[in-house]
Amino acid sequence: KIRVRYAPSPTGHLHIGNARTAIFNYLFARHNHGKFIIRIEDTDTKRNVADGEKSQLDNLKWLGLDWDEGPDVGGDFGPYRQTERKDKGIYQKLIDQLMAEGKAYKSYRTEDELKADREEQEARGVMPHYEYEYEGMSDDEIKKSMADAEAKGLKPVIRFRVPKNKDYAWDDIVKGRVSFNSDSIGGDFIIQKKNGMPTYNFAVVVDDHLMQISHIFRGDDHVANTPKQLMIYEAFGWQPPKFGHMSLITSAATGKKLSKRDESVLQFIEQYRKLGYLPEAMFNFITLLGWSPVGEDEIFSRKQFIKIYDEKRLSKSPAKFDNKKLEWVNNQYVKSSDENEVMDLALRQLIKKGNIPENPDAKTVEWARQLVKLYKQQMSYMAQINKMASVFFKEPEQVSGDALKEISNDTAPIVLNEFAKRVKDLKIFDQVEIFKTIKSIQKDTKIRGRKLWMPIRIAVTHEMQGPELPESIELIGRDKAIHHIQETLK
Ligand code: GLU
Repeated sequence: KIRVRYAPSPTGHLHIGNARTAIFNYLFARHNHGKFIIRIEDTDTKRNVADGEKSQLDNLKWLGLDWDEGPDVGGDFGPYRQTERKDKGIYQKLIDQLMAEGKAYKSYRTEDELKADREEQEARGVMPHYEYEYEGMSDDEIKKSMADAEAKGLKPVIRFRVPKNKDYAWDDIVKGRVSFNSDSIGGDFIIQKKNGMPTYNFAVVVDDHLMQISHIFRGDDHVANTPKQLMIYEAFGWQPPKFGHMSLITSAATGKKLSKRDESVLQFIEQYRKLGYLPEAMFNFITLLGWSPVGEDEIFSRKQFIKIYDEKRLSKSPAKFDNKKLEWVNNQYVKSSDENEVMDLALRQLIKKGNIPENPDAKTVEWARQLVKLYKQQMSYMAQINKMASVFFKEPEQVSGDALKEISNDTAPIVLNEFAKRVKDLKIFDQVEIFKTIKSIQKDTKIRGRKLWMPIRIAVTHEMQGPELPESIELIGRDKAIHHIQETLK
């Protein structure tokens, strides 16, 4: 039975890397008709943020994911929040069991002592690690040492007794065979903190086992945790699930691991959502980060991805986050999407920016609809409309630079004068008539092509490129268009 989980820590918004982890688990579950589970790993209470869980789940839903079990939908293996599981005593019972079997113990080493140990180890030139504090002591001596510590008012953590010089290996679905020697992992690690909370490495094993998780797909950054987790499975005599560690995401611009400080890449799903990206497009783009289908096609719906998903095609090498690709994929979706969906989202962006009043009247909405239609082919996300169509909302700056050069010739003033004059007299001011007007100027003046079209475009829109000119001029409006031309001719 296939059961996979996405196990976010509610320490912030949904990061693009987390979204990818969730999507690959989701696709694996849905492709194999298994179960997809959400579990909240909130035992590091200091790092939890108030809205973290809600924001994570909201954004997963926005991306189109759904789950069979989770904190909001329940299920047979709950509760699905680790703090609630802790309150039910699930971890304590098992920690007591390990202690009774001598596989875990109370450790009273203070921060100062641990620090002194590390410094001494560094001076000796060995990797800093925890050294067993009861080395060479008899059971009675250990008992006494613990009692003394308690008498001093020290609170213990619980450490796991790491087996000596033993290899822990697994066949990773992505990376192939991976092996760690137990002596290389830093010594007996903590499984329960002073405040009674289980640590990640312990709770994750207990929950994955009790929730009957069959496969774990997660980020590369967890590879070094896996041997520790395998030791805990072994200590309990449990069968570990299969692991797949996905390559990290690098920024195509810097070649470095995507870092939350890198401002050239938006890293939180929330940010994309606010800018009016389409969720289906984001799902598509993220799924291609470190996974590729057979063949050349890159645009797939969620349903298609479910059908073709194959975990063997997860890439070993780092995934490149490429902004150009992001925009390309998103543009594919905007271009082919339903006009009303795009319209609603774009209208919201126009209002947000103050380019259109809140609660616009029917005429304004219709005007905006035409505007969105005009830019739909070019947009990757809806907030772009504000910039792309800025000429429609504010007085453009003086024509300058290349644009000015382009119209500094003898024929441009002729074209512009004629255009302004003829447009003023039009009975119907719409794109068809505007197009005819431009053609009539061509016929009468013999000026054609770039020398005909460019001056008009530059004078009216102050841009050297843009959507279809007659439509643009119609939407800009007669008075404004003529005014722009007169300003240019001055
Ligand atoms: N809570 C862990 C994280 O957010 C989950 C790691 C795992 O999947 O085991 O990184």
